[in-house]
Amino acid sequence: MPASHATPWAPDSWRAKPALQLPQYPDASALASAQNELRGLPPLVTSWEILTLKQQLAEAQEGKRFLLQGGDCAETFAECNSEIISNRLKVLLQMSLVLVHGLKLPVVRVGRFAGQYAKPRSADLETKGDVTLPSYRGDMVNGPEFTSEARIPDPRRMIKAHARSAMTMNFVRSLIDGGFADLHHPEYWGLGWVSQSPHAVEYQKMVASIGDAVRFMETLAGGQMHNLNRVDFYTSHEALLLPYEEAQTRQVPRQPGWFNLSTHFPWIGMRTAALDGAHTEYFRGIRNPIAVKVGPSVTPDQLLRLIDVLDPDNEPGRLGLIHRMGAEHIAAKLPALLDAVKREGRRVLWICDAMHGNTESTSNGYKTRRFANIRSEIEQAFDLHAAAGTKLGGVHLELTGENVTECLGGARDLTEIDLQRAYRTTVDPRLNYEQALEIAMLIVRKRGP
Ligand code: PEP
Ligand code: MN
Repeated sequence: MPASHATPWAPDSWRAKPALQLPQYPDASALASAQNELRGLPPLVTSWEILTLKQQLAEAQEGKRFLLQGGDCAETFAECNSEIISNRLKVLLQMSLVLVHGLKLPVVRVGRFAGQYAKPRSADLETKGDVTLPSYRGDMVNGPEFTSEARIPDPRRMIKAHARSAMTMNFVRSLIDGGFADLHHPEYWGLGWVSQSPHAVEYQKMVASIGDAVRFMETLAGGQMHNLNRVDFYTSHEALLLPYEEAQTRQVPRQPGWFNLSTHFPWIGMRTAALDGAHTEYFRGIRNPIAVKVGPSVTPDQLLRLIDVLDPDNEPGRLGLIHRMGAEHIAAKLPALLDAVKREGRRVLWICDAMHGNTESTSNGYKTRRFANIRSEIEQAFDLHAAAGTKLGGVHLELTGENVTECLGGARDLTEIDLQRAYRTTVDPRLNYEQALEIAMLIVRKRGP
């Protein structure tokens, strides 16, 4: 029996392990009562959906599907509104259309939303002038305002995050069930910008050619194909705030084991992926498909030991490895990891996060990322996987459907001066809708059908 089955697990067994990046709540009984309330609330997703996604991720591991995972770095309570949610859905749908068309593969769509409210931070404290306060850790934990009151961790925020996540899910599900994602009507997901975009012609051509293909298949089938009326959408977030995740970890009738019913596909962030840490302990016991961020300091040996703990049975669809090396380091760091995982016969879904290794600060004080680096990391990732005989099965991106100016470059060649115009993120810089679509197109050009 693999060691990790022999060690007992419970939704709260993580409490005996060192836990990084968790807030210190000032009032333990308020925390316990918020957790109790959460335990009694309905779940956000079901075990059936989770197991269906696991099956699709197993197919992605074999190269039969491609994963598109994307959304905000951090959702905020204030931006839980109709326009932001539907625009983000639109850009993800447009990207997936480009990928389906160009790769000739079904795309698994996973949002970074409906729960992406807790953030790891590189520093516990933030100083402005002569005032030092605890860092903002996401709306689920504390407030972004630079006041001592806002920065106190408040467990009631977990209840609000659960409610906001439920509202987000509800709206996304209704849009999709109501035909918003119908392949017969890609115009429903047109963002106002499409006609002015540098990519407009290429995108409209794809839409027209998909329309032709749909009509052709329906002529053959002799009627409307209803599976083209809707697409599946799954959710993911960094399951960082373990008291929240623990309270959403449930058993369901007629299924063995435990599910995290707050999201379909949670991941462990780079800063909390220690082998002996609380997050690894929590994740090993849930039946969801899970992913881990893999940064440039991880050695092949460390990675293999982590895989042993998180996926002792080498189960299809169970484990995604999201590498986030940076354009500068990927060529030096990734190949040894790919070789080790391949040599040991471990079944994983390799995913490229081309955002988090490419963060820098501008001279005018903005945290940004260069489109050219994001692009280069993705292109190098495809080449490195091809050379290693492994498959890059998906991408993980921070993006928004809004016309923000947070990342430099892209077809409009945004400059440092442009960043001042619409820099809105509370944490990391996101691709705007044009830059996001451009990434989808370059994936197609690089990987091809
Ligand atoms: C993130 O995905 O927002 C994040 C913090 O990533 P990482 O854990 O890879 O640094
Ligand atoms: Mn981020």
